[in-house]
Amino acid sequence: MIFPYIGAHPTITTDPSERVKYRSIKGTKDILPGDVEAWQHLERTIQEVMQTYQYREIRTPAFESTALFSRSIGELTDIVSKEMYTFIDRSQESLTLRPEGTAAVLRSYIQNSLADTSPLTKLYYIGPMFRQERPQAGRLRQFHQYGAEVIGGQDPILDADIIHLALQVNRALGLHQFSLRVNSVGCERCRPAYRTILTTFLAERTAELSDESKARLELNPLRVLDSKDERDRKATAKAPLMKDHLCAECRTHFEQLQEILRHTGTPFEVDGRLVRGLDYYTKTAFEITSPLLGAQDALAGGGRYDLLIEQLGGKPTPAVGFAAGVERLLIALSKQNSLPGISPGPRLYIVALGDAARQWAFRKALELRNKGYAVEMDFLGRSIKAQMRDANRSQATRVLVVGDNELAQGSFQLKEMASGQETVVSESQIESHLG
Ligand code: AMP
Repeated sequence: MIFPYIGAHPTITTDPSERVKYRSIKGTKDILPGDVEAWQHLERTIQEVMQTYQYREIRTPAFESTALFSRSIGELTDIVSKEMYTFIDRSQESLTLRPEGTAAVLRSYIQNSLADTSPLTKLYYIGPMFRQERPQAGRLRQFHQYGAEVIGGQDPILDADIIHLALQVNRALGLHQFSLRVNSVGCERCRPAYRTILTTFLAERTAELSDESKARLELNPLRVLDSKDERDRKATAKAPLMKDHLCAECRTHFEQLQEILRHTGTPFEVDGRLVRGLDYYTKTAFEITSPLLGAQDALAGGGRYDLLIEQLGGKPTPAVGFAAGVERLLIALSKQNSLPGISPGPRLYIVALGDAARQWAFRKALELRNKGYAVEMDFLGRSIKAQMRDANRSQATRVLVVGDNELAQGSFQLKEMASGQETVVSESQIESHLG
């Protein structure tokens, strides 16, 4: 199926009578020509913004040992308890298709001793992630994230750097409508006491909560606060919030972050209910949402995770990062009509009739392509008329016609498609007419 955010590509048609034996798996999508141009544009923009912020790309494998994810994301989270694609391989090892990027980046950071090359490491990634969620608009089972991590510093200016990076990618893509919410989820010193306060508050209102929140009450009470269910919203309207129970260090960090955001002219809202779905966050948590998206309105989310590297076996190292959904960005951009069109057609289409002309055309096409020109020709032995139609369909800028006569005389007709103007050129003049 064609991606929903762009119209159907004109060349791709499906014969309804054709029996399709194999279909893509539920929750996965093909990215077809006509749609892939928007992806390439988005990827290029991400690369450019990352370069200006001096983050370097890292590519990690699509699967890792299961324990890496269950320990870092948290056994009790939805991702680990319900959504991971986990399998036992032929060596009886438990492996998991990565459900997110951070754990793998940190595994690689530790394994490859990246800290030795620089005390502050700024990395980004882009690639497919896998979660067995219920597919719906903006929610897939194989989806794509881009994200960034800055490892090795605890200054709130780095939290701001990461937030600005995420916002700048949106702006560079031309997205207009999005907003930033920030919170602090505390640390191992202040969170346990707050958790007790919250649990006591929730215990008095158990009957008013949704079933999902009732189930979360004991194991993950903080998540009850960011439930979208009206019953939970009502029952927790006056709930105590982490941001009002921070220890001195977390409070200072959070205040400084807000000051930096104000100082750098970044509109934001403090949302004391913001709790991310992954366990590893400490201090800062943030989310960027867009009203252009439907129910699944989160474009990006992230935060600080000062304890995670140590938990994964590295030296204690503070870090902060975020991840953003590529499909959701594309949906938001398409709602705004801000996606680029399909890529341009060839600079030259060579219409050739007869074996000698076809051979000449192929040699000429290779020669010009090797010089950097996009050149197309017919490979199906079609009639001149059908080749002209194909040149039109491919949106070629110019068409060169070659037959036995043209070869014998060494002169060719070059047609400029937009104006319809025809020029007679010699072989050596062709290149200079390609513009
Ligand atoms: P998370 O790793 O859950 O914090 O997600 C970060 C971002 O990835 C979200 O804000 C979404 O934009 C995107 N995302 C997460 N899960 C999915 C999914 N199943 N399908 C599409 N996008 C997703």
